[in-house]
This record gives sequence, C-alpha cells and structure tokens, in this order.
Amino acid sequence: MNEGLKVELRDYLGAPHQADILIVDDTIENLWLLTNILEEQGYEVRKAISGSSALMAVQAAIPDLILLDICMPDMDGYTLCQQIKSIPESADVPVIFLSALHEALDKVKAFSIGGADYITKPFQAAEVLVRTRNQLMIRQAMKAVQHMNLRLESQIQERTRALEIANQRLMEIAYYDNLTGLPNRALFTECLARSLEAVQADPDYRFAVLFVDCDRFKLINDSFGHLVGDEVLAKIAQRLATVLNSDDVLARFGGDEFVILLRQVDNTKAAIAVADRLIEAMKPSIPLPHLEVFITTSIGIVISNPIEHQKSEHILRDADIAMYSAKANGKDRYCVFTPMMQRASLERFQVETDLHRALDHGEFVPFYQPIVNLKTSAVVGLEVLIRWQHPEQGLILPHAFISVAEETGLIIPIGKALLDQACRHFAEWRSHQVVDDQFFISFNLSACQIAQASLPQCLQHTLAQHQLSPHHLRLEITETTLLNNSLAIAVITQLAQQGMHLCIDDFGIGYSSLSYLHQFPVKTVKIDRSFIQLIASEPHKLQIVKAILGIVDALNMTAVAEGIETREQLMSLEKMNCELGQGYLFSKPVSADITTHLLKTQIQCLQ
Ligand code: C2E
Ligand code: CA
Ligand code: CA
Repeated sequence: MNEGLKVELRDYLGAPHQADILIVDDTIENLWLLTNILEEQGYEVRKAISGSSALMAVQAAIPDLILLDICMPDMDGYTLCQQIKSIPESADVPVIFLSALHEALDKVKAFSIGGADYITKPFQAAEVLVRTRNQLMIRQAMKAVQHMNLRLESQIQERTRALEIANQRLMEIAYYDNLTGLPNRALFTECLARSLEAVQADPDYRFAVLFVDCDRFKLINDSFGHLVGDEVLAKIAQRLATVLNSDDVLARFGGDEFVILLRQVDNTKAAIAVADRLIEAMKPSIPLPHLEVFITTSIGIVISNPIEHQKSEHILRDADIAMYSAKANGKDRYCVFTPMMQRASLERFQVETDLHRALDHGEFVPFYQPIVNLKTSAVVGLEVLIRWQHPEQGLILPHAFISVAEETGLIIPIGKALLDQACRHFAEWRSHQVVDDQFFISFNLSACQIAQASLPQCLQHTLAQHQLSPHHLRLEITETTLLNNSLAIAVITQLAQQGMHLCIDDFGIGYSSLSYLHQFPVKTVKIDRSFIQLIASEPHKLQIVKAILGIVDALNMTAVAEGIETREQLMSLEKMNCELGQGYLFSKPVSADITTHLLKTQIQCLQ
C-alpha cells in the first residue's frame, strides 16, 4: 500500500468526533436522554419523533448513524429502516435499533432488514456509547475501504492505460518501420500469408506483389551520410504511397527496399500499370535543404500462383528475382517474373560464389590492348582489360562476370587488385625502359567504383606504391555513370584536380550528348567501336564520327577510336585526323608477358 493511502486510512480510522447522529423515537424522554448522552461526547445530534419526519431528516442530510426505535405509531422502525436502506444514498448508513422488545425473533428481523446493531431498552448510557462508537468506526472503516477501492481502481485504470500505450508502442516497434512509419517485413509477411490463405479458399483469386528497390541508393548514403539518406528514404516512401490505394500494403523491408501487396490486382497488365505509375512518381527530383537528388527504382512484379506460391517466402523470392532482372536490364524499370529468371538467378548466385573464390585465389589478371598513335603507329598507352583465369574453364571474358561483380560490389576489391597488378607491370616496363615517361595505362571504372568517396585517395596510394604519377593513369568511365549523377561528377572532379586523366568510354552510344562534354573535366573521348566498324559501310556513321572529332578538337580534347579492325577503317580515321586508336588491327588484348614482348619489339622497330 502506498504512503498516501496509509495516511488517508489512518484519518478515516481515527476517533469519529464529528459524527452526525439521527435519533428516531416517539418517546420524548428517550429522545432527550439519548441526545444528552451523545452530545456530551461531542456528537452532532438530530432528532425525529416519527418515521415520516425521520425520512425527511435523512433526505435533507445523510446522517452517519441512526438510532431507531422499533415501536412507533405512524411507521414502525422496521418499515422506516427498509425505506432508508432502499434509498441508494442512505443505504450504507448504520441503523441501531432501540426497543423494549427482546424476543429473538425481533432481533433476527432487525438484522435481516439491514440493522447494524440492537440495543434493548431500558438502555445504559455506556452501552449506547460503545455500540454507537463501534458502528461509527465500522462505517468509517468501510468508507475508507471504499475510498481506497476507488483510488485503487483509478490507479489500475491508469496502469492499464499505460500498459496499453506500451503495448501499442511494442506493436509499432514489432510491426512498423521506425523511419517511414510503414509496415515492416513482419507485418507485410502476415498480410501476405492472409492473401495466400485467400487463394487456398478460392483457387481463382489472384493478387500481385511488387518488389521495389532504389537504384544506386548507396551513393546517397556514402556521399551525404545516413541522415540525408534517411530523409530521402522517408520522401521515397511518401511518393510511393501516393500511387497506391487504401487496400494495398506498402512496406519497407529495410535499407532501400520497399515491397507492395496489391490485393485487388489479379493480372500482369494491371500490375504493370501500377509499376509504371510508381516509376513515374519517382521522376521529379527529391528536394533536400541544400541539394536535390534524383532517384530511380527497379521493380520486380509477380502475380500469385496457387501452385508455386505456397508460402510468403516463395512469392517474395520471385518478386526479388524479378527486381534483380530489372536491375540487370538497366535499372529504372520493372520486370515481370518468369520461371526462366529463376534459373538465371541461380546461375548468378553461382557466379557470385565463384567470384569470391576467384578473388581470394588471385584468378583475375590484367590483359592489355595497345593504344596507338594513328600517325606514327607508336604504342602510347595500354588499356587494361580484366580476364578471369578460371582453373577449369580457362580464360573468361568480362561480359560473363562484370555485371555480377558490379551488382555485388565485388568489382571494388577486384578492381583494386587488378590496378595493383597493372601498376606493378607498368613499373617493371618503366624500369626496363620499354616505355617512356609519357606512356600511360588506361583503366576502366564502373559506376559503383566511381561512387566511392575513398577512390581518389585509394588510386593515389596505389600509384605511389609503384612510384607512378597521376599522369601515368587514365580512367575510363561511361557517360551513363555521369548522367544526372552529381555524386559521380564530384568524385571525378576531385580525381581531375589530382592530375588524373579522365576519358569518356563508349562515346556515341546511350545518352551521348556532345553538348555537355565540356562540363566535365574530361580530356579524352573514346569513340565506340560500333561507329568505327561501320564507317566504311554506313556513310552517316562516318558523318557522326566526323562531328564527334570536330567537337573533340574544338574542346581541345583527344579522341581514341575503338575497335579498329581493318586498314580501311584506319585510313578513314587518319584522314579525319583522329589522333589515337585501338583495335584488333594492332593487337587483341594480350597477357602481360606478350605485352612485354610487344613493347620490346616496338622499340626495336623504332630503333
Ligand atoms: P570496353 O571498355 O569498351 O573495352 C573494349 C572492349 O572491346 C574489350 O572487350 C576489347 O577486347 C574489345 N575490343 C578491342 N578492340 C576490338 C576490336 O577491334 N574489335 C572488337 N570486336 N572488339 C574489340 P573486353 O575485354 O571483353 O571488355 C568488355 C568490357 O568489359 C569493357 O568494354 C569494359 O566495359 C569492361 N571491362 C573490362 N575490363 C574491366 C575492368 O577492369 N573494370 C571494369 N569496371 N570494367 C572492365
Ligand atoms: Ca574501356
Ligand atoms: Ca570502350
């Protein structure tokens, strides 16, 4: 029991001095006698000489105790007692009967209708006082208990409320995502389980699940920190929600993954319509206090299948596979799940496992393709092209593994190891004087490599380890890496400031825009081989190459023509004053040993 309650109880149980006592007796002498006895003790006393006046007195103010004569002319004590007990306000007032009658039967009746005690006349003052006091004490104790009960009840209510709030909070933590307020994976899985039950009940029922993953979200976190990342995620959640109906469930699975349950969508066409609206909703930039970012999403769509999807995880797995396929097909798009995708996904998983092993075993090696001065035919640099020296499958070309390495982020450690080997080879060629100080190696970087804030420092460290300078290294990046990507632009700007030479790779395909070239700190443009290989057969390709070369020249940049395979192509390019070129006509990409030989032979030729 708490301290407050103890004090209150003590007050209630203290001597009842101030009690208001009503005496009801038709005998005046008795009335006075009793009044005197009680008033001497300090009690307040009211008197009534009949049942009806007693009722009036009770209604005027509820007394603390009633001393009640049984035999009265207008209404006997029993009747009066019953009436008093029937009034809710006075039902608890203790009634002590006073009567000369002392048969047991009367006492039983008196108690059975609610009498608290019984005093036989003629009474003794001491007995009246003791019995009065006892009843007052009992009444007070009862009041105290009632009061305490009320207090306890309100305390219990308060605690119950607090418990409810705590429970609610627990529910929120267990079932809702803190950042976006959206349902989390646990709640989504339950909703999904209910939809799967609905399919069991009605095999014709179908629903759709969309797996939404933000493209290149890691860049935002890496470049602006997690606080900004969180803000962007909350805004993405809001955007996605605007497209959905109240019946749909949008959940965040953590990171930049959102999953949507479309309960009313039962066919691919309708699901695609929703995916289109989601992609559209993400188009406008997301404004933040000091910057704005563009976010695209890759969406995997799956329509429930009563045979394939027995459990929540089955349908989520398929949605995830479809989402990966959307990513692999270039991101910022949706993909509808097909069983073929699952096979591709398994293969992809196999490649990923193999890549890890290959990295540990040093199976990645640099091959080199000469970059040639078209006028002098001198090899001025080498493009580093990765090869996977697989113990069973032999030499594997990049297209078979680069995209998986990029998606998994493994390209970062792989690229690091590769550059280290290339720099080691380069340092050897330098020390054997098979190359001069102007010679360079040209290294390919994919989007996720550019997105590392630590890249400039990392590159410098590797160069320094092999006593190479920034001008010995050229970095090849594609236009898509830079498109709408302020983060990548920030990194390349820093690289350029460090003296690194940047090249735009595969120029001419994709978004190619000559107009923005000058905005980037780029010194070289590599014209995609699809143009070079068709310059002889398709005159408009020749015109495009001419135009590119004109702009490159105007901007004081250098052009490298890729994929030169024939003398004819070489001659056209020479005519157009293209400075550098590479291609099978000069050499295929070859191992370090063959490159050494090639470089040495060139020196001999030149001597
Ligand atoms: P890329 O950067 O456009 O590299 C040029 C590709 O064209 C190379 O293919 C090269 O072997 C090929 N090639 C060169 N001359 C000719 C020619 O005359 N005719 C034809 N038909 N092809 C020619 P490869 O080595 O298979 O590399 C493919 C792509 O893989 C590269 O395209 C590049 O995007 C990527 N890659 C290669 N190595 C790396 C690397 O170390 N890191 C990254 N991130 N990507 C790499
Ligand atoms: Ca390249
Ligand atoms: Ca290229």
